[in-house]
Amino acid sequence: MIELEGAEAARSTATGMAAVTTAILAPLKAGDHVVASKALFGSCLYVVQDLLPRYGIETTLVDGLDLDQWQRALRPNTKTFFLESPTNPTLDVLDIAEIAKIAHSGGARLIVDNVFATPIWQSPLSLGADVVVYSATKHIDGQGRCLGGVILSSEAFIAEHIHNFMRQTGPSLSPFNAWVLLKGLETLGVRVRAQTENAAKIAEALANHPKVTRLVYPGRADHPQAATVKKQMGAGSTLVGFEVKDGKAGAFRCLNALKISRISNNLGDAKSLVTHPATTTHQRLAPEARAELGISEGFIRFSAGLEHPDDLIEDFQRALEQV
Ligand SMILES: *Cc1c(COP(=O)(O)O)cnc(C)c1O
Repeated sequence: MIELEGAEAARSTATGMAAVTTAILAPLKAGDHVVASKALFGSCLYVVQDLLPRYGIETTLVDGLDLDQWQRALRPNTKTFFLESPTNPTLDVLDIAEIAKIAHSGGARLIVDNVFATPIWQSPLSLGADVVVYSATKHIDGQGRCLGGVILSSEAFIAEHIHNFMRQTGPSLSPFNAWVLLKGLETLGVRVRAQTENAAKIAEALANHPKVTRLVYPGRADHPQAATVKKQMGAGSTLVGFEVKDGKAGAFRCLNALKISRISNNLGDAKSLVTHPATTTHQRLAPEARAELGISEGFIRFSAGLEHPDDLIEDFQRALEQV
């Protein structure tokens, strides 16, 4: 992972959430301040919004696309900026280089959750980020076998903040899971490239479908942050987001009718997976908060697998007839 990411040092963790929690929490103390983009994986939002304040760490959530909000959130005690890009599940693409500059102007570090982009398509450290975290449960394993995570950064950050914290508190990766994940890493590049090709084909097939009211894929010219995608990503990722007609009822009819793509909250798997974020990954949010993030009742997240793209498209077309 160090070679893939261009990092000086890394530590592997038991889960992606262990990587996120350790990377955020270990360097901080009461009185510090954290700024994070509000479009975060549900558990990351819990760490920032619920957990940190209980230990006297102040947090501010911003619209990650709005650079002014990052700038205005900066305080003398701001130690960490945290974001994910593309975001889950609406696939907004945040400008990592610009946000890193703002963080550094105030003496803060930028931690990037790079799960959706994978190390194949995006290298946050080369864009100015200080720390990169992964859930290895996703593309790195890629076959739904075990949980894992990674923290990558400078040697100094690991030595000063992570090494001793992990030794004393124990979020370490088990040896067996480390072996499984290393096997996954051997095929990461070929899987991610093939899954990305599939994602692009599905996005193309769904974009003008009469039952699809909105489609988001970072690899398309009509993506709202297409210029940022071009600047910082090698390709559009393995994920596609789309909204079908008739809200939740329409989405459920489509999901239930799919025969190839499986309903699961995992992503990055060799099998294609579909998720209904409003009732699963983001059910904890208030309806207004979901609406603000663009997670409507009809929104579906698709994680492209390695099946034949023609089969996947045929499956979607048949399922969409049920909407
Ligand atoms: C899944 C995921 C996590 C958490 O990973 P686990 O391995 O499930 O703990 C963190 N961030 C993002 C963006 C994820 O998709």
